[in-house]
Amino acid sequence: MIQDIAPHTYDPAFRIQEPSDRDYVLHYEYNKVMLLKEREGYVIPTFEDLKEEEDLKPKARYLFSIDDRAYFCVTDMKMPEFGGYVMEGLPIFRTFEPLHQAFAGITGSQIYRWWQSRRYCGHCGGKMEHGEKERSLVCSKCGQTEYPKISPAVIVAIKNGDKLLMSRYAKGAYRNYALIAGFVEIGETFEDCVRREVMEEVGLKVKNIRYYKSQPWAFSDTEMIGFTADLDGDDRIRLEEDELSEAGWFTRDEVVEYGNFISVGHELMKAFKDGTI
Ligand SMILES: [Zn+2]
Repeated sequence: MIQDIAPHTYDPAFRIQEPSDRDYVLHYEYNKVMLLKEREGYVIPTFEDLKEEEDLKPKARYLFSIDDRAYFCVTDMKMPEFGGYVMEGLPIFRTFEPLHQAFAGITGSQIYRWWQSRRYCGHCGGKMEHGEKERSLVCSKCGQTEYPKISPAVIVAIKNGDKLLMSRYAKGAYRNYALIAGFVEIGETFEDCVRREVMEEVGLKVKNIRYYKSQPWAFSDTEMIGFTADLDGDDRIRLEEDELSEAGWFTRDEVVEYGNFISVGHELMKAFKDGTI
């Protein structure tokens, strides 16, 4: 999965730190990221790469580290006109290499999006400022504190003997088969959320709900919590047509391998195909 970057180590601890020349610059504009073209592909530029530009270091804000290299976000800068810089859409990180930098790029974008969407206090309209002791934004007028936007969502592999339930979404760009998933409501446990989403989307009951793995999914500011479950009773699917265009039971042989297992949903589908769940 995208966060499985071993032997590299991700360190998200909050820090106030000055950049060094070998640290990385993440510059985002809306849903694009600045990359540097190098040979066949792209790399994330360092402060060294950008040394010809106006001094970026005073404007840089520490994000996190991977191993001994820090990543900084520089919001207020212009992309250099020369030298091979490009603004690319964030989906590039679905296939970007090396994987630990794909993870850095997409994770940084989630922090950037949170900053951009919380520039003013939702309570009093005051200007938000960066917290000094933790990753937070604090209102300069009323003191309201905002923490990073992370929305929990469940995803579940529902088994019926040797068959797996898969579905296709009715809307959106993603057209491949997927597992049942949905956002956790206020006041709901993850297990209750699994039961509710499965009932709403395909009209089925489930039992033996077991935690599988979780996954930060920065593309949608989500933390996916993966589960397995068994069908409980009637296997007749009643589709919620607003959300799904089709759903059905598939044998292990019928489960399609999509090749790139960066999501917990794909890993669950592969685990079912391989007979490990
Ligand atoms: Zn306020």
